[in-house]
Amino acid sequence: LPARVAALLDDLNDHQRRAVEHAGTPLLVVAGAGSGKTRVLTRRIAYLLAERHVHPGQVMAITFTNKAAAEMKERVADLVGRRANAMWVSTFHSMCVRVLRREAKSLGMGSSFSIYDADDSRRLLTLVARDLDLDPKRYPARTLSVHISNLKNELVDAETAAQNASNDLERRVAEVYAEYQRRLAQANAMDFDDLIMRTVEVLQAFPDVAEYYHRRFRHVLVDEYQDTNHAQYTLVRKLVGKGDDGLPPAELCVVGDADQSIYAFRGATIRNIVEFERDYPNATTVLLEQNYRSTQNILTAANAVISRNANRRDKRLWTAEGDGEKIVGYVGDNEHDEASFVANEIDRLVDSGVANNSDVAVFYRTNNQSRVFEEIFIRLGLPYRVVGGVRFYERREIRDALAYLRVLANPDDTVSLRRVLNVPKRGIGERAEACVSTYADRERITFAAALRAATEGKVPLLNPRSQRAVSGFVELIDGLRRFVDDGQDVAEVLDAVLDQTGYRAELEASDDPQDASRLENLNELVTVAREFTEAPEVMAPDNAPEGIAPVEQTGPAAGSLAAFLERVSLVADADSIPDAEDSGGVVTLMTLHTAKGLEYPVVFSTGWEDGIFPHMRALSDPVELAEERRLAYVGITRARERLYLSRAIVRSAWGQPMTNPASRFFDEIPPDLLDWRRVGPERSAPTRATTWGGRSSESVQASRQRASPTSGWKDGPSLSLSVGDRVNHDKYGLGTVVAADGQGPRSTATIDFGSSGTIRLMLIGSVPMVKL
Ligand code: ATP
Ligand code: MG
Repeated sequence: LPARVAALLDDLNDHQRRAVEHAGTPLLVVAGAGSGKTRVLTRRIAYLLAERHVHPGQVMAITFTNKAAAEMKERVADLVGRRANAMWVSTFHSMCVRVLRREAKSLGMGSSFSIYDADDSRRLLTLVARDLDLDPKRYPARTLSVHISNLKNELVDAETAAQNASNDLERRVAEVYAEYQRRLAQANAMDFDDLIMRTVEVLQAFPDVAEYYHRRFRHVLVDEYQDTNHAQYTLVRKLVGKGDDGLPPAELCVVGDADQSIYAFRGATIRNIVEFERDYPNATTVLLEQNYRSTQNILTAANAVISRNANRRDKRLWTAEGDGEKIVGYVGDNEHDEASFVANEIDRLVDSGVANNSDVAVFYRTNNQSRVFEEIFIRLGLPYRVVGGVRFYERREIRDALAYLRVLANPDDTVSLRRVLNVPKRGIGERAEACVSTYADRERITFAAALRAATEGKVPLLNPRSQRAVSGFVELIDGLRRFVDDGQDVAEVLDAVLDQTGYRAELEASDDPQDASRLENLNELVTVAREFTEAPEVMAPDNAPEGIAPVEQTGPAAGSLAAFLERVSLVADADSIPDAEDSGGVVTLMTLHTAKGLEYPVVFSTGWEDGIFPHMRALSDPVELAEERRLAYVGITRARERLYLSRAIVRSAWGQPMTNPASRFFDEIPPDLLDWRRVGPERSAPTRATTWGGRSSESVQASRQRASPTSGWKDGPSLSLSVGDRVNHDKYGLGTVVAADGQGPRSTATIDFGSSGTIRLMLIGSVPMVKL
């Protein structure tokens, strides 16, 4: 082998090498966390180009985040140079946008369609539901959105949904779905699920289009295959082809780990990986078992937890690296104590030279848990960065500004138009908006056209004052659009929007400190736009292989307003993860979901409490519990050298203290792997919640030392309650039990105490509460 090719293979183990060299039939690499699946995928691409002389333009690779895509492209470019540019390496969504821009006409859409995110989509659903006279209590937009999204993930269109509907809810959903799609089309917009569904639609409806992509892409590679849903699965099948158009199927290589499937709520189905061999009968499967990421202690813990799940292919991860440190456990009095422990421990590791800030990640189950960490990190001056959460692009002021830009780029974008119609306030009230909207419906014209008609006095019932306000607004938008047409760059357009609409002036005049930070955020957006203008992401020229026409650049022109909006729309959570090199030494905070595919030398996985993690929803549902357990497996296996697992005895939720028992996942880790730094509330003065039990903190501590730290409550008497029982609590007063979970030492009840709130309590110890 030439040295260059040998170098691609020599730091791989035999199984990995087999996967890289495999040719001719579909290939499935299934393996546990950290066993080098992503490495195999990247190497395989480089090997295809270097050894099998595949043209880069024939390669399509799909990753889970744009960041992963960029990284993969970079790694391949390191190996094969600039030729890497002709590959399509992207997320499912970005890849579909690229196809749809080219094929939009076949779907009756303009190629500059808007992409609606979850919030836009819910706004549109709210409008639709209102117009269909649905009771918003019974059919909240959020619920409708979940149902419609599920249908789209299953590739069920509105018509089929209506035919299949067997109850009232399903019929309503189908009705909303149909109208929602009509409005999306009218607004020349697609939501995120549409991007996948409509790409499949194009490929199915137009054999010549399918054949074009099929001819073009001879190698399709998919990372994190366990998280594909049915629509994405079908898309992959379509791209690979069945050999019925005269071309052999493309070579498919998918890598994944059924134990890391954590997106069931988005319709992902493990089925896709479990039944790969059935769907592709000539498939070859490669298993990888050696882990190169974590210490043996971490792997043993991960194996032990995941082995509690039923119906899985058993696999044992091992490493040649040795046991390493024990896993550290910590029990905080409350969430602040837990966060202090994390912060102090990070300080200690950094001071003693064990780690840098950037080696450390803190995980939690839900975004809102980041706040406590942020507070303490700020207090201690520990630099950090939160990935996800209330993301920059989800802030109100950012969305308002972007809505203006979208209206300028796509005049038919009704959701954006209605969003900014009266922001800042300009005297176009809800009534006026309703008049215009009714007129638009009656005349079957867009909302934008109806607004224009209003300026000519054609809209009935619109009072003269509102009409003047509407005219002012239409003039404002027309003026701004001239700005765009004159070829001003995005940052200048944005500046003009903020000035001419009065948005900036309004914030400047306010003395609400929140408005000051809104201004800062808007300035940040201007900076983003400026950077974009200075270094627009020039799409690589599409060097298609010989004999095949390149995909035309029908997408928005580089550096244009539309290109800017497209990039902003496709920013995913994980895209903002700082690179290890340029993170400037900050600790990274993120949810367990976001952590997938990543690795850190030091990991703190926090909030290990029943009701938090596993999530409350999962406590009584074995299917959900299995998914939470996979999440635990993902979390544990992110750690390379040190892993900390912690919980708090009391945690505030909805402004009320809640006492949560230890996460059941603690009990699933062999006790000898855990080194408990602190097991109970012995250190500080007893808090409110530890005294209500009527036991002194010493007696709590004593019982904990007798049994294992997580089962220390076992000897307490317990109060037995069921849903509907009335109780009287010394502190919270009268209440009604709304949920009862767990058994024995894990018994808890969620009790509605009226004005004192709904509180979840452990039912062990001498609870200062009586059943009535
Ligand atoms: P996950 O399931 O979490 O996505 P993965 O299976 O994709 O993990 P990788 O991220 O590819 O695993 O690899 C984990 C780590 O092990 C990386 O740091 C990678 O560089 C390293 N690694 C993989 N294979 C080898 C090998 N043969 N020799 C040395 N290091 C390796
Ligand atoms: Mg991976």
